[in-house]
This record gives sequence, structure tokens and C-alpha cells, in this order.
Amino acid sequence: MRASSIYVLPCKAGSGYVNITNACLNDCLFCIKRDGAHFYGSDLALDGRPPSAAEIVEDFEAADDVRRLKEVVFCGMGEPLLRYNCVLDVCREIRRLRGQSIGIRVDTSGLAWSKEKRLDILDWINCMSISLNAESAEKYEAMCKPKIRNAYGVLMDFLWAIKVEQVEQDKLNCCFPHVRLTVVDTRETDCIPESGRQAYPPGQFPVPDFDKCEAIATGFGWPLIVKRLFRDSRDDHWSDPALREICLQGITPDLCKDCSNRH
Ligand code: SF4
Repeated sequence: MRASSIYVLPCKAGSGYVNITNACLNDCLFCIKRDGAHFYGSDLALDGRPPSAAEIVEDFEAADDVRRLKEVVFCGMGEPLLRYNCVLDVCREIRRLRGQSIGIRVDTSGLAWSKEKRLDILDWINCMSISLNAESAEKYEAMCKPKIRNAYGVLMDFLWAIKVEQVEQDKLNCCFPHVRLTVVDTRETDCIPESGRQAYPPGQFPVPDFDKCEAIATGFGWPLIVKRLFRDSRDDHWSDPALREICLQGITPDLCKDCSNRH
């Protein structure tokens, strides 16, 4: 049987996450994919067969039937906008089904901009969360190991294109999605997958300069979110349906005390 392309995280009962692709233009040293495709009791492997837009919509309807979702997030173990048309088709269909009664967020590295310069997705979503990850191209290369040349330059081009679009839409008094930048706090190196951690000697893993990243975000007029690394996402207990159900009801079990700010 095909695994659902919509997964739900403990403590985030109202959010359905779309596992749309495992392909990515980065190979971040902190990426959870390095530890396998098991994530909070869901298998995100996709087995080389990403879901079609029709399958995602079918899975969305099934998940929405069980727990009326407040938000859909395109965020898996890959770059959603590498499947731009699929994201767009799913967004259109979700809007047809739920109108504005549900939020839609896209989490992106911004690097799909190197393949396709399109921003029409902004007409359909409420939030775009973009991984800034570093204050400089050098730091970005050191942590994200991009597979394309000038990745940080591509990211900056993408940010500027969104900013220009935002200014235009503001002039027309049109709605524009919330835009935010994110960095990963890599100081908790024990949470970094071993293959990534081993790229640097102990104590030398690159850490973003949070102040400089904040200044970049402020320069664009957007907030910066500092994300903590996932600590226990592969633990077997997340596959226990009883525990998952407790979490999805919004009850925080003891073992979650340290994880709520990591999701
Ligand atoms: S951009 Fe995201 S999915 Fe891609 S390697 Fe980095 S953390 Fe993983």
C-alpha cells in the first residue's frame, strides 16, 4: 500500500506536512536525511517515486477528514520547489476545497530559482519560509554543501526577487504572504547526524553568525527564525500509535519536554 504523502508531527496536530520530494540542491551537513528517512514515526523515503499532485490531494483530504487541518506545509526531506508545478496544482486544489480557511506554507532553500525563475506560487500561499542558513557564501558552502555553483548568490537573487515583488504588491495594496528567513543553530553538535558532524574536527563545526543573519533578514524587512536541531526524531517510540495519538491530541508527554521548540 502507498504511504500517505501527508505526515503529521507530534505537538503539531493541526499541521499536515507534504512529503513531496527527496531531491535537493543542497547536501546540508545537518540534514536529518543523513540519518535515514524515518522521522517522528513516519517513513519519508518515497522509494524513488514522488507522489503525483492527485495523490497528494487525495492524502490531504484523508488527513483533513481525520483532524481538520489548520495548515499545510510543503516540507519533507527535499526541496519542494523542484516540483514547482506540482506544488502549484496542490495549492490550487486545497484552495478549491478549503478556501482561505487553511494556511499554506512552503519551506524552501530558494535554490530551485537556479532552474526556474517563477514566483506565481506567492499568489496561493500564506507563508514562505526560506533557509538563509548562513551570513556568507563561504559559511553556506561549508554547512550546506550545495550541488550547484554560486548557491548563495542564487539564494540572494531569490530573496531580492521576492522583495521586489512584495514592494510592488504593497503599492497595489494587495495581500502578500508572510516571508521569514531561518537559520539552524548548529551549536548542539550531538544532534547533527554523524556523517555531517565528522566533516569537521570536534568543536569546529561551522555555526551561523546569528547577529549578521538577523541583520540580513532585517535588511529585507523580514523576521529571522533560529531553528534548533531535532534531537529524537528517529526514536522508535514515535511509531507507537498510542503515544502519537496522545501527542496529536495536544497533550505533551514527559519525553517531549525538550523537543517542543524544535519542530
Ligand atoms: S536544504 Fe533541507 S532537505 Fe536539502 S539537504 Fe538541506 S536540510 Fe536537507
